[in-house]
Amino acid sequence: MSKAEVSLEHLYKVFTKPENNDSTLAKIERHLSDNVSDFLSQHVVTKKTSLEEIEQDFMEHCVPSEPDFVSSHAQHLLDNLVAHSVNTYSPTFIGHMTSALPYFHLPLAKLLVGLNQNLVKIETSKAFTPLERQVLGMMHNLVYQNDAKFYDKYIHSARHSLGAFCSGGTIANITALWVARNKLLGPQDGFAGVSKLGLAAAYQHANIKSLGVMSSKRGHYSLGKAVDVLGIGRNNMLTVASEPHVLSPEAALKVGKEYQEQGNKLLAIVGIAGTTETGHVDPLDELADVAKELGTWFHVDAAWGGATLFSDKHRGVMSGIEQADSVTIDAHKQMYVPMGAGMTLFKNPHDANVVRHHAQYILREGSKDLGATTLEGSRNGMALMVYSSLHIFGKRGYQLLIDKAIDLANSFAQMINEHDDFELVTSPVLSLLTYRITPKHLQNLAQVDAPTQEKINSTIDKLSVAVQKQQREAGKSFVSRTRIEAQKYQDHAITVFRVVLANPLTTKQDLVNILEEQLRIAKNTRSWKTLSKITLNT
Ligand SMILES: *Cc1c(COP(=O)(O)O)cnc(C)c1O
Repeated sequence: MSKAEVSLEHLYKVFTKPENNDSTLAKIERHLSDNVSDFLSQHVVTKKTSLEEIEQDFMEHCVPSEPDFVSSHAQHLLDNLVAHSVNTYSPTFIGHMTSALPYFHLPLAKLLVGLNQNLVKIETSKAFTPLERQVLGMMHNLVYQNDAKFYDKYIHSARHSLGAFCSGGTIANITALWVARNKLLGPQDGFAGVSKLGLAAAYQHANIKSLGVMSSKRGHYSLGKAVDVLGIGRNNMLTVASEPHVLSPEAALKVGKEYQEQGNKLLAIVGIAGTTETGHVDPLDELADVAKELGTWFHVDAAWGGATLFSDKHRGVMSGIEQADSVTIDAHKQMYVPMGAGMTLFKNPHDANVVRHHAQYILREGSKDLGATTLEGSRNGMALMVYSSLHIFGKRGYQLLIDKAIDLANSFAQMINEHDDFELVTSPVLSLLTYRITPKHLQNLAQVDAPTQEKINSTIDKLSVAVQKQQREAGKSFVSRTRIEAQKYQDHAITVFRVVLANPLTTKQDLVNILEEQLRIAKNTRSWKTLSKITLNT
């Protein structure tokens, strides 16, 4: 294959729009924009199923020394990357929170890359900065519902932030706890504050052994990362046994009191509005009261579930969220925005000032540079995608999508309940549920003695793993799996299928087909044969 010339002249050409519409690039564009749901045909995965096989295409460890033509590189991408990508747009890809996007994001992505604004500072992002602040204002209003006067005052104020836009829920959670930490251990009585002097000095000044953060056992792993990077330490992540899937306010109060009586300070209680594994929502109202009683920050991780606030019908399950000091919402989950769009919202517009940072050449005092209070530095204008989605769907459009997803999850739950060979493990609170295959004659398993139960459950676990893997490899549909403690089985952990119904194009028939396929696969496994020989003495 001919290589491009190594000359500045050639490289200048790479920076400018090609004169004749480059055919392979155009093909990629068409591939993506013509009919997104046809992208990668109807299959969830492509022919090369093993990761090892795909790795063979990515073995070279030296940077290519010679430049390549854009056109031949585009062909290379089609062959090696596009062809083997996962089709997250497929209506039968229902295993994760990453789903289909509305088509309008493709041209918008061009705008984003085309303008290449940097939101860290006004000098590189005029117009995008006010847009991002407005988006944060709208999302703040969705959560806290303050009056117009409040938003008029704060939305564009250089000295306040209604929130921080960032790349995702992980950074949003870290940002929230960073603000909580610096506020608690801020400058006072001659002490210069944790941000200047570090944790050791701050603990000494506050006369505490340690800070801690509390959540239910269903807390997202990003909380572990947060306490790690903030210097609090993973052992001070207090995960309280969930009852059965949410943080019990009584337990939270008890554990929090004990922790503080031992000379520690509880930095924050994290309530989860839509857990990643089962979709449950903590009792936020009660947890807000517990946080008040313990004198601690209340953060709500609504990374996935936050979009439920658009629905007048369902937002009630999150009542109490408006009492949170900070709230995480990921637009790239249920708001159908491409990845890279997370937010922390602050109830008190002054709070983010505890992490405010100034530098000489940018982020000058009194400037409206967003970078002064964000953890990340250079950032693209992803807020544009949220801005456009809020306009194109509107609150009522989002409400329809959320309501539909929850309805579909309820229909699926019913389908599973009515099926002889399936067992619903957690019912949907939002649009997420877990279930497994339990052959008809074993449906009364909860009534037999514990050792027998355990033995049979471990065989069903093997069955679930085999079915999930084979279904994924067959490439028609994708359901994820996890292990959760089942109340029904004395809180022993069992393996379950996990389904997130986010794609509006998923139909009930798709779900019927997925169950049929799972049962068909199951009946060909060794575990199924083992299970069919068992009789229960109830
Ligand atoms: C997805 C998720 C996160 C992490 O968000 P990322 O965007 O993946 O960084 C945190 N908490 C919850 C509850 C989530 O669902």
